[in-house]
Amino acid sequence: VGDFKPDYIVASSPTEVVSLLQEHHDKARIIAGGTLLHELGFRGLLGNVQTLIDITKLGLGYTRWENGGLRIGATTTFTELLEALQAKKDDGFAVLEDALRSIRPVQVRNVATVGGSICTSVPFFDLPVALLAMDASVRVMGPVREREQRIGDFSQGYFATDLKPGEFVTEIQIPSMPADTSGAFLKLETNSVDWALVSTAVRLRKEHNIMRNTRVVLGGSGVDQKARRVASAERALEGKGPSVEVIGSAADAIANDVKFTSDFRASAEYRAEVAKVFVRRCLHAALSRIGGS
Ligand SMILES: Cc1cc2nc3c(=O)[nH]c(=O)nc-3n(C[C@H](O)[C@H](O)[C@H](O)COP(=O)(O)OP(=O)(O)OC[C@H]3O[C@@H](n4cnc5c(N)ncnc54)[C@H](O)[C@@H]3O)c2cc1C
Repeated sequence: VGDFKPDYIVASSPTEVVSLLQEHHDKARIIAGGTLLHELGFRGLLGNVQTLIDITKLGLGYTRWENGGLRIGATTTFTELLEALQAKKDDGFAVLEDALRSIRPVQVRNVATVGGSICTSVPFFDLPVALLAMDASVRVMGPVREREQRIGDFSQGYFATDLKPGEFVTEIQIPSMPADTSGAFLKLETNSVDWALVSTAVRLRKEHNIMRNTRVVLGGSGVDQKARRVASAERALEGKGPSVEVIGSAADAIANDVKFTSDFRASAEYRAEVAKVFVRRCLHAALSRIGGS
């Protein structure tokens, strides 16, 4: 890309990736789908990087259902994951399916990877917002050991993850969802290839007409440094029967927890209003998927 002409190494094993990362330190970057790195290289933002380590030949492009949960290899593309979810038809994973469908254009869906999306670590990508609503965790391989970490702790803020030197992500894990669980995802962009101004993901279980295991997650630009759960909205729902009033008060409760910011795309007030409306719509959609709202 332009003047950016790094060495390109196609790694043949995870241990080779770890030793290459140790050898080259911050002068090396992992490349998976390459959709973000292409953007950064094009804009001259990869100045220090001299080596790209391709991890797409490690056999990490897989989806495996295990005891109702899902293990997703880090280099699985968005399209591959969407196809796996469509084949399974499990309403518990609806929030993830919604988020994947909302990612455009389809050419990006065909090459961008799940690992690349979470390792970029920005609040305005769609997948991390949905994965947080599903209590996903990340499997990391490094020089000392393999470890697992909850996705909410893995992301540390804008372009910052908890990856230590020599570490990379090998898998994303989603626990099984109990029966009568569903969710929904919505986002607002200024146009079809812009980042989300506001994105919302919800997931809940309806047990004997009571809402349980509720997750309300916000993402987008101008919301926070990373996708975040909204505790006050979750509290307003947990243990209650679904009604227009309860759903309305959960959406109103967002204002207690989240301080939106303004930028050239939208004002803080506009973002706050969109978030409220979208959380309400997501909750109604999730409940109607379970059956009755
Ligand atoms: C035109 C366009 C439209 C887009 N539209 C959307 C959209 O609608 N919604 C949305 O959410 N996103 C959108 N995106 C962003 C897209 O989701 C990201 O670019 C993509 O997720 C990055 O994944 P990748 O596999 O291409 O990563 P790469 O570009 O290969 O890598 C991204 C970063 O992650 C690191 N990395 C990758 N894999 C690993 C790993 N396993 N372990 C450690 N580090 C790793 C890389 O070193 C790099 O820093 C769009 C991008 C483009 C170019």
